[in-house]
Amino acid sequence: ATPPLSLDDMDRQSLFHPVTSISDHITSGPVVYTRGDGVRLTDQHGREVIDMGAGLWCVNVGYGRAGLADVAASAMRELSFQHLFGSAASEPAIRLADRLLNLFRREACAPQMARVFFGTSGSDANDTAFKLVRYYNNLLGRPRKKKIISRLGAYHGVSCASGSLTGISAYHKGFDLPLPDVVHVSCPHYYRHGLPGESEAAFAARMVAELRATIEREGPDTIAAFIAEPVMGTGGVVPPPAGYFQGVQKLLAEHDILFIVDEVITGFGRTGSWFGSGKYALEPDIVSLAKGLTSAYFPLSASIVSERVWRVLEATSRTTGAFMHGFTYSGHPVGCAVALANLDIIAGEDLVSRSEKMGRYLLARLRESIGDNPFVGDIRGTGLMVGIEFVADRARRQDFPAEGAAHRLVAKRAQERGVLTRALPFLPVTSFSPPLTVTEAEIDEAVERYAGALGDVLPQLRALAA
Ligand code: PMP
Repeated sequence: ATPPLSLDDMDRQSLFHPVTSISDHITSGPVVYTRGDGVRLTDQHGREVIDMGAGLWCVNVGYGRAGLADVAASAMRELSFQHLFGSAASEPAIRLADRLLNLFRREACAPQMARVFFGTSGSDANDTAFKLVRYYNNLLGRPRKKKIISRLGAYHGVSCASGSLTGISAYHKGFDLPLPDVVHVSCPHYYRHGLPGESEAAFAARMVAELRATIEREGPDTIAAFIAEPVMGTGGVVPPPAGYFQGVQKLLAEHDILFIVDEVITGFGRTGSWFGSGKYALEPDIVSLAKGLTSAYFPLSASIVSERVWRVLEATSRTTGAFMHGFTYSGHPVGCAVALANLDIIAGEDLVSRSEKMGRYLLARLRESIGDNPFVGDIRGTGLMVGIEFVADRARRQDFPAEGAAHRLVAKRAQERGVLTRALPFLPVTSFSPPLTVTEAEIDEAVERYAGALGDVLPQLRALAA
């Protein structure tokens, strides 16, 4: 008889790891995490790491919440599935819609929000927004008004529509994306794209002027919506430059352009506020939520639409029929039950204030321990959404010649030393975004390990910079 395959071999022979370099993976093999508790993960060999990534910005309440597992199990026992088509519904879906709507209205100062639509992923939430803004304008009798403006460097998902909104060419290459009617404008990343001597305010004004020029060039009657994350995540951990969103929103209002706010990462306390929309005084027409909605204990996304959009949908659907968009798993009762319990934890343990406080502590500790490193250009962030930008030359803010090699090297060494960070794929930025439950002692431990890793690879970084 043939001996059973090891997990390692099964992985190599069967599992396709998305968004992973196939050749790198074959060389390094899988790290199989088998348990999680709080901010810590344990791999198949019993080695422990502190997860300063919260599994792609998801696990806001931390790992190993038995209470959430119990809620999922009892929801499954009671009613494992119900859909939302026709007049069907489930109690958790109704309760979550009500809770989410009121939470967002209150915490984002957004009384204009009116209805909740459920999906299962951030990508499908942005697909819903993509289709909704077209539908809205078609119902209003202006079919030409259908372009969506997004920012270069932004990440909004990988489906054909959301992947088109994503402003990173690597996600388009080979897939014949972006789709027509998607327009990209510059990324408001001040540290990277600010001109020498240009103030943050002047930079923000230049970004807004570019958006104005783009709207005028394309024709305002062809632009349906603008999409943005309050703080860019995958695009480099980029908080908006001061004044940027005020300028943007003024333009959108002038030209009757809907504002889609992608809060897939920023929602549910990540930035130190319940929502980025509240923090930066955004007035969305459509909000996309996922990840922290369930802390990834169950796949679930939500789109919240404003009264303005809802009113048109509601009024005209009486003549044109239903809004023919929705997924089998929209409002899955198990996911909605888990989301409700997850919101209880975030509110009950005051994790939003904790994110704000621990975020300040993390920033301070990183600045103090590696801020003087010649290859650390910028340490920035808000709440527990923190990034370190690496440069080969600090004074001239020059990138390493081999793009991405340097920060990946540090992250790899850090993982060996027991701290998981996320080296972003297309910028020399490493993201720190632990579960919001992280303590000062855990931050100290993680920063110490990371600083040690950076020290270890300094000779290689010098060689890469040369
Ligand atoms: N929007 C943003 C801002 C994201 O960060 C992500 C995922 N990283 C998505 C959308 C897509 O979410 P999903 O991977 O669940 O489709």
